[in-house]
Amino acid sequence: MKERILVVEDEPGLLLALEDRLKDEGFAVFTEANGARAEEKARRGEFDLIVLDLMLPGRDGFQICQNLRESSIQTPILMLTAKGSNLDMIMGLRLGADDYLAKPFDMQVLIARMRALLRRSAVPGQLKTPKGTQYAFDEYVLDTASQELLKTGKPVTLNAQEYRLLEFFVQHPNRVYTRDELLDAVWGYEANTTSRTVDVHVAWLRRKIGEKKRPARIVTVRGYGYKFVTKER
Ligand code: CA
Repeated sequence: MKERILVVEDEPGLLLALEDRLKDEGFAVFTEANGARAEEKARRGEFDLIVLDLMLPGRDGFQICQNLRESSIQTPILMLTAKGSNLDMIMGLRLGADDYLAKPFDMQVLIARMRALLRRSAVPGQLKTPKGTQYAFDEYVLDTASQELLKTGKPVTLNAQEYRLLEFFVQHPNRVYTRDELLDAVWGYEANTTSRTVDVHVAWLRRKIGEKKRPARIVTVRGYGYKFVTKER
């Protein structure tokens, strides 16, 4: 399956050159010249990588980067900065960009950096389907298209919150989240939720994915929260 790249650049000549070259490299390329529209597209979370120019009409690259990370959109971002501006580079990385490249750049260098980022972000056991993604761990598969958890092919019953919590975990693996962050991400602003709500659902979910006394997938990080571990044991 082709990797989906969103290229955000307002200089028409450069945008066209990037589009052509990246298509030649076998990527599925989507382009956008306006910053605000680019953020809207990126929010759908359908891209494997975003190449993001800094100075854009509508909204600048820093703001886009920050907004996406604040919304837990973790798509890798390669930022295009002005030549020799360390400040741009440092700002970009601080706001959540994964790498940067100063203009003017060599296309081959850009492609090498993109491939390195894509390798780093590739999650083992993840299969993109036309309507969603299947996340595999142990003998389980979580299918976002059918919103089902399968154990060796047979459905495991999850309530809506358990499903959403597990979906959040598999989509944001190997990172610790506080109970408050999980409440925000999974429950939103529903009334009557407390950090205890998270603990209870984690306990239920652990049981459903066969976690015994020492959970190895949904791990408690003492004094902080929980993380979903995808690394093999
Ligand atoms: Ca620009």
